[in-house]
Amino acid sequence: MSHAIEIAKKGIGKVSPNPIVGCVLVKDGEIIGEGWHNEFGGPHAEVNAVLNSRRNPIDSTAYVTLEPCCHDGKTPSCVQFLFENGITDVIIGTLDPNPIVSGNGVKSLRNLGVIVTIGILEKETKSLNDGYNRWIKTGNPYVIGKLAKSNNGFMGVDNITQTQLTGHYANLETHELRASVDAIMVGKQTAIIDNPHLTVRHIQGENPIRVIIDTNRTIPLNLNVFRDKKAETFILCSNKKFNRHRTSFGTFIPVDENEDGLLSPNSILRGLGNEGITSVLIEGGPQLLNSFLNLNLIDKFYEFTSIEELENGNLRSPELNLDDWISDEVQILGKDKLVIYLRRELCLQV
Ligand SMILES: [Zn+2]
Repeated sequence: MSHAIEIAKKGIGKVSPNPIVGCVLVKDGEIIGEGWHNEFGGPHAEVNAVLNSRRNPIDSTAYVTLEPCCHDGKTPSCVQFLFENGITDVIIGTLDPNPIVSGNGVKSLRNLGVIVTIGILEKETKSLNDGYNRWIKTGNPYVIGKLAKSNNGFMGVDNITQTQLTGHYANLETHELRASVDAIMVGKQTAIIDNPHLTVRHIQGENPIRVIIDTNRTIPLNLNVFRDKKAETFILCSNKKFNRHRTSFGTFIPVDENEDGLLSPNSILRGLGNEGITSVLIEGGPQLLNSFLNLNLIDKFYEFTSIEELENGNLRSPELNLDDWISDEVQILGKDKLVIYLRRELCLQV
């Protein structure tokens, strides 16, 4: 199953809003085939594993990270396919979280006389698809927050000056994180001041969709995200003033505006979910992060802290209320420290 998890990750960034899945076939104690879901609408992991099998898969055991499908979607059902190819045992990491199909794959396999085991490395197989798991159940994406701050708690000198706080290894980690999500979101101010590309560089990976918050559509369109053609760009704006439409700069998506004149975070997530975005990374600045933090809408948080203090800092970093968060992982990245937090109420649900 560990190997199935590893190969499932080869599908990251390529199959959304489908889940990533890995499958390994074992016969007489030897791996005879492996496959993963590699392309949206393409063959499922189980089919690829059987087709790539070095020996006849009859009487082999399939280790698959996610419950095989039993419905006729874009490809024939994997339950039927495994059965027809003579697989007698199926070991499943986690059930499909889609409430309409969850458990039905297992039931169908058992009805065909296949021996099924469920829940092997369940936590690990489940967390392969945090985005899909959330989206298929709620229609909203899984939300990851990220910030970089100085040792004395500032994200910058002020909100009109670009400040680079963290070093090379922290940047690599950020690009890894970008490659793992469907979309990356920043506020208008960050888009203007930093003029970022918001693409994946320094590592191998797919570019996520760029999402820019621009309530009143006043942002200059000569910024990199509108010009570089490296990835799709969504501009979220107020539905009081604008309709949905597409231009050469990107797609304008109207969502609800709050009384304070800012876009509603809940409506932003709903809008992104409607576009098939299952996971979104919020890269700041503090105003955007705080608006999501205040409503408990962030599920996972990456906090990079530089060893250095920022003199004349004025742009205060959001602070996590540690009653609400569990520190899940700590990494030292050169001169920076990364702490990954998980929202406590989500941890308690597992
Ligand atoms: Zn399938």
